[in-house]
Amino acid sequence: MSLLLDSHCHLTGYNDPVAVLRQAAEASVDVVAVTEDPGEYRLLRARLGRRPGVHTALGMHPLRAHGFTPTDLARFLRTLPEAVWIGEIGLDYSPTGRSTRRAQLRIFEAVLAAPRARTLPMTVHSRGAEKDTISRLAQARATAAILHWYTGPLALVEDALTAGLWFSVNPAMTTSAKGRALLNAVPADRVLLETDGPFARHGTRPARPADLPAVVAHLATRWALTPEHASRKLQDNQQRLLSGTEYH
Ligand SMILES: [Zn+2]
Repeated sequence: MSLLLDSHCHLTGYNDPVAVLRQAAEASVDVVAVTEDPGEYRLLRARLGRRPGVHTALGMHPLRAHGFTPTDLARFLRTLPEAVWIGEIGLDYSPTGRSTRRAQLRIFEAVLAAPRARTLPMTVHSRGAEKDTISRLAQARATAAILHWYTGPLALVEDALTAGLWFSVNPAMTTSAKGRALLNAVPADRVLLETDGPFARHGTRPARPADLPAVVAHLATRWALTPEHASRKLQDNQQRLLSGTEYH
């Protein structure tokens, strides 16, 4: 039985995705495999088939937004009825993304304007664009949106919580000063798990879904719970996240 959920993993970024999934299953971790565009979604779906324990998410990555054509967007919208998760979507106003801000907003708003997208669980990128990301998600009344690897101002956390948003935590965040400060600001009942592997690291190597028990152990200490109790709390959060969606 799978218990924990890695809500943001770039499965196609590993050399050995099948081994990564096997290890995840051994560690009782389900994986949300994010994609950057509808073409990657389709390829990954075909490659994985009906494998249990992995959910392919339909994405339009913000750093790819300037290259998306109206056909790409139409393809995204056409694929929505079969999708069960959305991601990676969002905004990025870091030095890398700042110049394509308008294109990013156009894509992000088009995604959020689709009624079905708003009823699906979604994992959202917000680097350097936290204020706009949170306000767009709040306006859209997204039912189950997760801010993934949030590194923005702590002053906006309250706005995000009021909008009903969730925060996902990866192994790297448990050791960084910024990640730890965020964990002090977010109540335990709004926390979910992610790896952002293989781009995020666990120690000296790329993070893998099977690393999630180490994140649970960290959260347990922080929340003064046993690891079993912390794990149950996170599973309860996962269930609440999905209960209001059309995920099932
Ligand atoms: Zn990512």
